[in-house]
Parts: sequence; structure tokens; C-alpha cells
Amino acid sequence: MRLVENLRHDRELWTASDAEIEQFLLLGAQRIQDLKRDARFKYVSIFKNHGANAGQEFEHPTSQLTATTFVPRRVLYELRAGRDYFKAKERCVFCDIISQELQQNLRLVEVRGDFMALCPYAPRVPYETWIIPRTHEAAFERFGLARPGNMLDLGALLRRTLQRIRTVSGEFHLVLHTAPNTLHRSKSLDYWRTIDDDYHWHIEILPVVAGRAKSYTFKEVYYSPVTSESAVKRLRGAQIEGQGHSAESTEPTPCGGDGGRVP
Ligand SMILES: [Zn+2]
Ligand SMILES: [Zn+2]
Repeated sequence: MRLVENLRHDRELWTASDAEIEQFLLLGAQRIQDLKRDARFKYVSIFKNHGANAGQEFEHPTSQLTATTFVPRRVLYELRAGRDYFKAKERCVFCDIISQELQQNLRLVEVRGDFMALCPYAPRVPYETWIIPRTHEAAFERFGLARPGNMLDLGALLRRTLQRIRTVSGEFHLVLHTAPNTLHRSKSLDYWRTIDDDYHWHIEILPVVAGRAKSYTFKEVYYSPVTSESAVKRLRGAQIEGQGHSAESTEPTPCGGDGGRVP
């Protein structure tokens, strides 16, 4: 069983005001929380496909909320990898990635408040970008509802990141990765015993770029023709609205490596 619901808003996420995106994020968090009360739904998340090649279904700006009775395969791989890493190191793999990226400053697109946009070390498609909170939290909805004030920074970073992505491609997939439904304890869900410690919510943006065919996949190992280090230079340098007018926003230096920005 799958429930798909439109989270309609009047403007696209990259043209809306930060306050409008904040409201959209809070609404999304609330809906995910509500749907997770239904024990049948094992996974609830938000996604947006923009552009004909990205599988957009409607002309007006919408994001979709999807609730499924199973955990999508891609997410399952990630959840298992996080759990295995935690088993071996007793640390969250995403927190480790975050501290390494902040230290190296090679793949950071932008840091804003508690959030950062980065190109992952092993991208599946060129210019793949993640938005992730620096504070550890497995579930987006719990984070959003517990710290509603933070959603303004997330909204601003989401808008700015999508503006950057749009200088590379007008079409993209955006998907929220949050913890599976653990509200209803059961034998099968006992599987996610360490989820609060081993998983860390984030948003993945996968642009649909020309030459996509050159990027191929073999058993979940991805080869991208554009390295994250060169992707990040182009995304950081992209001309976007509000560039240079925000005191809270940190633009990492393109050559990186100073490590001096770690708060
Ligand atoms: Zn973490
Ligand atoms: Zn993910």
C-alpha cells in the first residue's frame, strides 16, 4: 500500500521566500509525524521530481508526501550501512562524514546555521548534493517539530542550494531521507534498535544532467564523470540570489583545507 499526497505550495522552492519554505517544511514534518501513527506505514517521506525527465507529474509546484508499507530499497541500504557502521565503531557514520567534510573543506557547498550542503564523497550522479544537519538526529520530523526555529535556516539553505543546482540542471529529484517508522514496536521493527544513534536524516538532491548516461551503476557502486571536488567548485561559484548578503551564511573558500571554519 502506498499513499501519495501533494504538499502544494504556490511557488517553487527556489523562488519562494525563506519563511514560505519554513512553513512548508514544518507542514511536512507534521504530516510525516501524523502518518507514522498509522502502524501500517513503515516509511513516510517527502520527495519532489522537477522536470519532464525527472518524472514530474503536475504543472503546478508540488512536492509529494509518500507513505509506504515497506521501506524503499535505497533507504534500506543506507539504514543497514548506518547500522553496520555503528555496530563496528559505536558512532554515527553521518556525524563522522560531517566532521571530516568540515575539516577537509573539499566538498562543502555552503554552511548555514546548523545545516550544511555538501557533495558526497561518492556521488551517484554528477552534482549530487546533500543537505544535512550538523546536530545528530535520526528523524527529520522529530527534529523539525522540536526545533521549529531551525527550519528557517534549512529553508534558506534549501532555496540557495536549489538555485545552485538549477545553474547545472533545470531537472532534479529531491528526496528526504528520514528514519523509518519506529513508533510501533514490533518484532520486525526491533531490527531498528539502534536507529536513533546510527541514522541521521538528510535531504538528497540528484540533478538530471546531460551525459547522465555516462554515469552508470553496477550493484550500488556508482561512477560519476564529475568528481565531487569539481562539482562543488561550480556549485559554490554559481550566481544565486542573495549571494554575499547573508551574514549568517558561510561560503567556504574554494581552495579549502584551512579547517578554520569548524565552529
Ligand atoms: Zn549523526
Ligand atoms: Zn540518504
